[in-house]
Amino acid sequence: MRMILLGPPGAGKGTQAARLEENYGLKQLSSGDTLRAEVAAETPLGLKVKDIMERGDLVSDDIIIDLIANRIMQEDCARGFILDGFIRTVPQAEALDAMLMEKNMGLDAVLLIETDEQELLNRMLGRAAEDGAKARADDNEDVFKKRLDVYHQQTAPLIPYYDGKGVLRRIDGMRDIDTVAADIDKALGFSIY
Ligand code: AMP
Repeated sequence: MRMILLGPPGAGKGTQAARLEENYGLKQLSSGDTLRAEVAAETPLGLKVKDIMERGDLVSDDIIIDLIANRIMQEDCARGFILDGFIRTVPQAEALDAMLMEKNMGLDAVLLIETDEQELLNRMLGRAAEDGAKARADDNEDVFKKRLDVYHQQTAPLIPYYDGKGVLRRIDGMRDIDTVAADIDKALGFSIY
């Protein structure tokens, strides 16, 4: 199964993607984690994206498209993959479509985790307080608001894009993790044990 998790920052995409990886063997691919590892290792790519990420802006489509192209055809994606926050603009989605089409592959599902934004802000502030010194560099109120803004402007156009292809499934992300997980399993047609 090949799928995408969409949703605003803080919606719980990473938590749900990790669970899908563990339960169903689908490889979780997180562009945010990949880029943070590049920043931590101070690679040329990391140095290039560090400030952009800390401001809450998106890195360029070219960078992301290269990352996807290098990643999804690797052996550990043979059983499928979950793109966790990896597709955030229409040009990225179009590039992914072209890559999959070239391999005669399709997308099985795009899950949109829908949220209440004020509640998300509260969650994020709670998480930043808990993490203390370990908090992510982009975990503060101003940057979070910027990231939400960027989501509305650049990522939300993916909702009609994927809806038009008939693959979009909407999930209410404001309930507890297990309830959201059960809804996701149902939307994907997985049975729950
Ligand atoms: P995340 O952990 O998914 O929220 O990503 C953290 C940051 O990495 C984002 O705020 C962006 O700066 C950058 N990033 C991650 N994925 C993408 C993407 N698909 N397109 C552009 N920038 C991205």
